[in-house]
Amino acid sequence: MNTIYRCVDADSIDMSVVEEAGTVIRRGGLVAFPTETVYGLGGDALNPSSSKKIYEAKGRPSDNPLIVHIADMDDLDRIAADIPEVAYKLADRYWPGPLTMIFKKRSVVPSETTGGLDTVAVRFPSHPVAQAFIKASGGYIAAPSANISGRPSPTSGEHVRQDMDGRIDMIVDSGPCDIGLESTIIDLSHGAAMMLRPGFVSAEMLREVVGELETDPAVFHETGPDVRPKAPGMKYRHYAPKGKVTIVSGQRDDVIRYIRDRLAANSGKIRTAVLSDSDDAVQYTQADLVGDMGSRDDESSIASKLYDMLRRCDDENIEEIYSEEFDTPQLGQAIMNRLIKAAGHNTIKV
Ligand code: AMP
Ligand code: MG
Repeated sequence: MNTIYRCVDADSIDMSVVEEAGTVIRRGGLVAFPTETVYGLGGDALNPSSSKKIYEAKGRPSDNPLIVHIADMDDLDRIAADIPEVAYKLADRYWPGPLTMIFKKRSVVPSETTGGLDTVAVRFPSHPVAQAFIKASGGYIAAPSANISGRPSPTSGEHVRQDMDGRIDMIVDSGPCDIGLESTIIDLSHGAAMMLRPGFVSAEMLREVVGELETDPAVFHETGPDVRPKAPGMKYRHYAPKGKVTIVSGQRDDVIRYIRDRLAANSGKIRTAVLSDSDDAVQYTQADLVGDMGSRDDESSIASKLYDMLRRCDDENIEEIYSEEFDTPQLGQAIMNRLIKAAGHNTIKV
């Protein structure tokens, strides 16, 4: 398939490109598009064959549900049922933005889109190009992240091109994503509010609105094979580079010493990388790649660099990746949740 590639400036949107993308969607095709979190791989959420195509293009199992993206509050209750009052409060505060809410679905939403579940995940993104594209497409875009299944989510048009060129109809590139981590997911379909995935909207920010908030145990811990996860991102290998990731936690000096020892032991034998904060980066000269994640005082820069760093490790054929812990105040949960998944729970306390 020949993939159409177009750049759109988010500050002055070329509506002819947006219309072109909308036409592709209405005809049942797939378009990768920018959002404030990561790039999405979009299809018509109400067309079962579009959702099937999304699974094929990603190489993703079809019981892994897709998030439905809207760009108008009035469209919410056409796809979701039994919407609790608290959802409107959350929407007032955090929509448009990086929050996904799960509701009982209405019958217009095909089960192909929801991975066979009777619930639907809905998000109203804030990215102006995403909003224009969703409107031009008919209002309901089903989209997972626009990466090949198992790879880190794409946070730039170039990442999308690496994974999706030749596999989808069109890529709309608006440069790097602001946040760089997937949306926070909150399940409001079963009574008590439950966070299924941490993101830019933190558990604290959710609690300010919902009061009581549970967190699905699978967010930070490995679950047994008999537990059916609510968010399939928890079930499948996710956010992973090709190299083996080890998270090293402990006192700063101990962490630096441990990683330096490992680099020295592997030197000349195995290709190594370190994900480090800016202050520590100079310590790791023996690594083949030092991923400088920025200052710990600027947690949003750490979040927005994570996937690009993991992809760079793949580009450089890195076999062993050591990461410092990034337990920062607001985004720490989201960053560590992705890192822990990339590491397959491989954490060393020194
Ligand atoms: P991605 O776009 O790759 O971040 O994937 C979307 C994620 O949203 C899925 O992997 C699920 O974790 C979650 N999700 C979507 N729909 C539902 C749903 N109905 N119930 C629970 N989780 C959902
Ligand atoms: Mg994904």
